[in-house]
Amino acid sequence: MHPLDTPGLWSDTAPPAPPASPLEGTHEADVAVVGAGYTGLCAAIEAARAGARVVVVEAATIGAGGSGRNVGLVNAGLWLMPEELERRLARHAADSRLPDLLAQAPAVVWALIERHGIDCEARPVGTLHCAPNRAGLDALAARARQWKARGVELSLLDAAETRARTGSHRFCGALFDPRAGTVQPLAYARGLARAALAAGARLHTGSPVSDARLSGGAWTLQTPAGRLRAPKVIWATNAYGSGPAAEPGRALAVLPYFNLATDPLPEALREQILPGGEGAWDSAKILTSFRLDAAGRFIIGSVGALGMADRRVHIAWARRQMTRLYPQLKGQTFAHQWFGRIGTTPDALPRLWQPGPGAFGLLGFNGRGIAPGAVLGRLLARAALGEGDALPMLQSANPDLLRHPRSLFMRAGAALWHLADQRH
Ligand SMILES: Cc1cc2nc3c(=O)[nH]c(=O)nc-3n(C[C@H](O)[C@H](O)[C@H](O)COP(=O)(O)OP(=O)(O)OC[C@H]3O[C@@H](n4cnc5c(N)ncnc54)[C@H](O)[C@@H]3O)c2cc1C
Repeated sequence: MHPLDTPGLWSDTAPPAPPASPLEGTHEADVAVVGAGYTGLCAAIEAARAGARVVVVEAATIGAGGSGRNVGLVNAGLWLMPEELERRLARHAADSRLPDLLAQAPAVVWALIERHGIDCEARPVGTLHCAPNRAGLDALAARARQWKARGVELSLLDAAETRARTGSHRFCGALFDPRAGTVQPLAYARGLARAALAAGARLHTGSPVSDARLSGGAWTLQTPAGRLRAPKVIWATNAYGSGPAAEPGRALAVLPYFNLATDPLPEALREQILPGGEGAWDSAKILTSFRLDAAGRFIIGSVGALGMADRRVHIAWARRQMTRLYPQLKGQTFAHQWFGRIGTTPDALPRLWQPGPGAFGLLGFNGRGIAPGAVLGRLLARAALGEGDALPMLQSANPDLLRHPRSLFMRAGAALWHLADQRH
């Protein structure tokens, strides 16, 4: 198994991946896509549907990066509040189309799922951003006001409404976003891969690109058993980049995030938890995400890695947090556990990587990559197809010299936080 291969619940319950084999021999394409996650696959669908010869090369398996490991919350915008997002984009003379594109991005995901008949437990029923305290509620109210000023009506729920919607007594309010919802992340990625193949793209897994060279107006990508020549290359490798794609990764600090899932809950318990089927997370600094999957498994997640040193701390915390949220789940054990790498930037904005003529990539979605991957992947494809102004203007993926201390701080901080919680 490749070290990045997708572990955890999602690979146990997703429909099988479409068949794919390593790249062998020498091939030519109009557009080469490196990375079979949401960004690369959405770019591949768009370019192939426009008639380009597209070849996707993936180091491991479809969705082996963040796309097969995440929580499955399909959200609008980025983590930043709308005003702050616009301010930061303006400060860097970045693309003014982005806030609108990102606000509408969940609709793009739902449309892709419908158009391609993707079987991925899609629930476009909204998400709940829950406030465990007054400060959190004030922040959610500000978020609601800012969206309203941009013509988007979100519902700020009071404590009683939040209790009814979540089934939990822990929150004093929540922000309901009807644009959002949940998917089975890996099933969605595999469905996108099937859609890309149906549109005429070719896809090779087990094909890590180890070298990329430009000569005579085309790039040559080298994989262990093959070579791919293309004038345009889309790098969609985000926080999992290897080979030449390790370079833009130096712009990212890694925020580890884990998930734990129970076995399917009995019907009587399931009905008491998020009865409307929304995905949820809270506004705490070290956040908690929680949702059910289609079979009624309770999935709880938070910041942290499940490594040798911190695994026990996080699992013990998750048990306590699960019963704080839902006392009726006391005694439930976790049958699935997995974690992944979230690529973060100091200002929470994505980065653009342009290693040379005709080659570009986007990375650093700061934990919001499902819907952004769909709209930004499309923009990358349009840029590759020669639409001059399609490429979003963003800061370059320059190395972040503090990425190692920041990564260490986030990992150790989460473990200490979850350890200290024992006393509460
Ligand atoms: C635990 C976790 C929870 C998250 N929760 C959410 C959430 O609820 N909602 C949300 O919107 N976002 C969430 N995210 C973020 C989201 O998953 C990512 O932003 C998104 O999946 C990024 O997609 P991508 O296609 O850009 O990159 P990835 O899915 O990471 O794909 C990159 C791919 O590139 C391949 N690759 C790398 N180098 C090479 C090479 N040299 N040659 C060939 N292939 C290569 C990798 O193997 C990998 O498959 C979460 C992330 C994690 C890790």
